[in-house]
Amino acid sequence: MRFDVLTLFPEMFEAVLGESIIGRARDAGIIETNFINIRDYTKNKHRKVDDTPYSGGGGMLMTAQPIYDAYMSVAEGLSYKPYTIYMSPQGKVMTQETVKKLAADYEHIVILCGHYEGVDQRVIDEIIDAEISIGDFVLTGGEIPAMAVIDAVSRMLPGVLADEGSYSNESHFNGLLEYPQYTKPAEWNGHGIPEILISGHHAKIEEWKREQSLVNTLKKRPDLLEKAELTEKDRAFLKHAVHDGEI
Ligand code: SAM
Repeated sequence: MRFDVLTLFPEMFEAVLGESIIGRARDAGIIETNFINIRDYTKNKHRKVDDTPYSGGGGMLMTAQPIYDAYMSVAEGLSYKPYTIYMSPQGKVMTQETVKKLAADYEHIVILCGHYEGVDQRVIDEIIDAEISIGDFVLTGGEIPAMAVIDAVSRMLPGVLADEGSYSNESHFNGLLEYPQYTKPAEWNGHGIPEILISGHHAKIEEWKREQSLVNTLKKRPDLLEKAELTEKDRAFLKHAVHDGEI
């Protein structure tokens, strides 16, 4: 999977995407990341990349020309249009479903990071296929959101995580939150771990995980249960747990 990021601040990315799992995925060639400095494409003699908006008000807007030329430095000569995302607080809020779809449907993604007051609408209309937000709040730039997209999408790709179980049990993958997890030592600060986890009874452990996942979701994000795919057994468990006052 190839990511080309159009940004005014390419130096911001290496510290985050050069480390750990994503850094190793890059080293292994599973993902390729290119950070394209929009400023390198300005035709302005002062290397200016922004200007005042026609609508007035405070702040500066990124101009269309350097963004378009930076985009064309990637897209020109390709036999296809790379899927191009604008990170924007006005976009559809990213969920694990968005992430799975991006990982499954595209081999090449271009990400435009806005800054200041945002970007001239005309270049959005010209090159962007989707606007994606990372939440209903406003950041100073699209760089952190772009890193979030690259990280979340990359870990869905085969070979990035040790095995599929590492993400398929995780929160949001199947519409639920993950069950609580424990590691060594079995006794810490006067707290033990649930006995079932050291019982060696794999079927019972799987049942416990599912139940705890349901409990966690009901306690922390009950809204998710409305959309989650629940079995009759899940529903019966939740009904009894609520009825018995366990949740
Ligand atoms: N004036 C814009 C508006 O009201 O929609 C906000 C501009 S914001 C200060 C600057 C840039 O940060 C945006 O162009 C976008 O790239 C990025 N950004 C800010 N918040 C974001 C969010 N929640 N998700 C994705 N990108 C965001």
